[in-house]
Order: sequence, then structure tokens, then C-alpha cells
Amino acid sequence: MFIQKLMQYIPQIRFDPDWILAWKNILFPSYCCHCDNRLITEENPYYCPACWATLPRIERPFCSLCGIPHPLAIGFGTRSNFPCEDCRTHPNPYVDCIRSPVRYKGIVKEAIITFKFRKKTLMAEPLGTLLREWIEIEMADMKFDLIVPVPLHPFRLKRRGFNQSLLLAEQVKDSFTGAQLSEVLLRIRPTMTQTALSIQERRKNIKDAFQVKSPDEVKGKRILLIDDVVTTTTTVTECARILKKSGAISVHVLSVARASHYTDIDDLLEPG
Ligand SMILES: [Zn+2]
Ligand SMILES: [Zn+2]
Repeated sequence: MFIQKLMQYIPQIRFDPDWILAWKNILFPSYCCHCDNRLITEENPYYCPACWATLPRIERPFCSLCGIPHPLAIGFGTRSNFPCEDCRTHPNPYVDCIRSPVRYKGIVKEAIITFKFRKKTLMAEPLGTLLREWIEIEMADMKFDLIVPVPLHPFRLKRRGFNQSLLLAEQVKDSFTGAQLSEVLLRIRPTMTQTALSIQERRKNIKDAFQVKSPDEVKGKRILLIDDVVTTTTTVTECARILKKSGAISVHVLSVARASHYTDIDDLLEPG
């Protein structure tokens, strides 16, 4: 009798997502990479909601061209974006604008390092959610024909096993009606890691590292270039230069995180 009664409930239990999650949590517990607390929800497989809530989000006003948030004193009292001093005096000749939902610091820096160097590809999902939320708020009126990830050189792709920018591009490909994901950009020359290089060295290091696979595919197209982090803009500028040389009419950039020299100043201003 008891067994029969129990059997009635089993199909329900088996297919109830809450039950599946509960069993998964018991059998395969996972912990937040930042605070070590037990993870009990599924939207982020590596960070708990409390830690994820501390993401250093970029808020208005930020530079309408390079996407860097204006220092508090300059942006105080306005929600409208406007170009920063650097972009007014030295506008980027190839990139139309850069947009990023968070600054490259704190938990997002940790998350991107986990994603790329500890090869946690599932990290693309919470980072993708972050990008889609940002697109809805800040990029809803923008139109693109192609969504193009910044490519890795085949050597690095083989070593890493995946291109993080391609995984992120897949996450946002449905956010722009009519846009298609395209791996039309190739990295034809291996480059040194840019981190330790000066801006001049970075430019030299990245020059002619990219090629467009089929120029006809980009001719007359509005392109959204996807990268995980934008720091000095050297890489995305070189990608945009090559894309525009092949006839692209615009190249906008979307990255998860944006590093800036203001980051350090704001760190000093922030309490704690
Ligand atoms: Zn946590
Ligand atoms: Zn700017």
C-alpha cells in the first residue's frame, strides 16, 4: 500500500526541477568560488547570489564613446552619457563605441580569470546574462548585421580548448533582431600576452595579427565585436581597422568588463 502510494508521487518527483536541483545539491554539492558558501541555486554555477551582487557595475554617466564611467565629480548630477576628455581630444578612428556592463575589478575579474584560465566554460552563462541585461537597458536601439567574436590564434585555441569571446557571442546572438553570429575575423599571427606591454608595444604586437576571412561578408555591414575584457583598446581597435578596411560601415564593441585608469582612483575613493 505504502509502495503504491509512493509510486504515484515518483513521476512527479522525478520531473520536478526543484526536486532534481535538491537531489543534485545533496549528491554533488558545489561551493561559491569567492566565499565558499554552499551554492543552492543554479543561475550561476560558480558564485553565490550575494557575491554576484557585488559586481562593479558601470552606471550612467559613462563615456558615450569608450564606455569608461566618468569620475564621480565630473558626472555628478547627470544621467546622460557624454564623451570623455580622452575621446574628445583623441577619438578612436576605427571603433564607433565600446560598451561594457562592469568594470574589470573585484569579483568579475576573478570570474573572467576562472572562465579563461581555469577553463570553466559554464561561466559563459552568468556572464551572458549580464550582457543581455545590459543590452536591454543600454543598447536596445542599436542595430547590427554581424556579431563577431575577437578570435584566438589557432595555437592558443588549441591550448585553451575554447574561445571565450565566441562563447560570449553565442550568449548574445539572439539579443539583436536580424544579426548573425560570424567568425569572419581570423587571428593569423600569434601575439604575446599584452598584459606586461606598454601601449606602444601593444600596438606593435597586435599590428596585422588579424585578417577577414571573406571581405564580401563584412562589406556594408554593421558589426558588433565581442570581447571578454577591453583594457587599452589596442586589440579591438586593430580588429575594427581590419574590418573597416574590408568595407564594414560601423564597428561597435561589447565586452563584459572594461578596465580603466579611473578604476584605481575610484578604488581609493570607495570606503573599505
Ligand atoms: Zn559567495
Ligand atoms: Zn571616452
